[in-house]
Amino acid sequence: MKTTVIAVDGFASTGKSTLSKRLAKALDFTYMDTGYMYRAVSYFALTTDFIQEDVIQEQALEIALSETSFSWSTNADSKQMLFNGKAYGDELRTLEISSWVSRIAQLGFVREHLVNQQRILSQLGSVVMDGRDIGTVVFPNADFKFFLIADPKVRAQRRFDELQAKGEDVLFEEILKNVIDRDHQDSTRAISPLRKAEDAVEIDTTSFSVEEVFEQMLSAVKA
Ligand code: C5P
Repeated sequence: MKTTVIAVDGFASTGKSTLSKRLAKALDFTYMDTGYMYRAVSYFALTTDFIQEDVIQEQALEIALSETSFSWSTNADSKQMLFNGKAYGDELRTLEISSWVSRIAQLGFVREHLVNQQRILSQLGSVVMDGRDIGTVVFPNADFKFFLIADPKVRAQRRFDELQAKGEDVLFEEILKNVIDRDHQDSTRAISPLRKAEDAVEIDTTSFSVEEVFEQMLSAVKA
């Protein structure tokens, strides 16, 4: 059976996950949030003492990580990704996790493990995957590639609103700094830096509604 891969890469908080989820639903594909995987590993590192006094204990983390895996929950109506058999939610989206994740995502052994897991997890059918290196590294031959960009202040405002709605006590300036820092770390890292694949369709989401961008992506896929 021919399966389709849609890669949605781009900067932090450009709307990748909202749009990818909608696209997956409209096309009846599986949605795979690869940021969730890097966040889950960051949470794992923080809660199991692989980060001590601001230093990542790389060797210990590498050994522990090799025994972990991601899987799909068997819940029929909405497929959810599990890390070591457990589903994670808002605990992965805190500012603390956001401020560690790009450092964790720079580590070669983390990327190798997660890219491998991503390829295994996508074998079950057609997927919409969102991340930073999907169209360049994970699936360079993806059927469709999108690259989302937007003004950093607009992105920070979206994150700020999202965190506030969840009751997290955050400052707009902190969020803006985190968005800018992550963009910088993600684009300048040595392994699989964030960049637009040559054949990706770039969309600037700054002044478009989710609906408008969604329609643009859907018509590109259906064309
Ligand atoms: O997409 P999200 O903002 O949740 O991703 C969190 C972080 O995970 C990114 O800032 C980046 O450091 C890392 N990431 C990555 N490669 C991916 C997906 C996420 O390096 N494919």
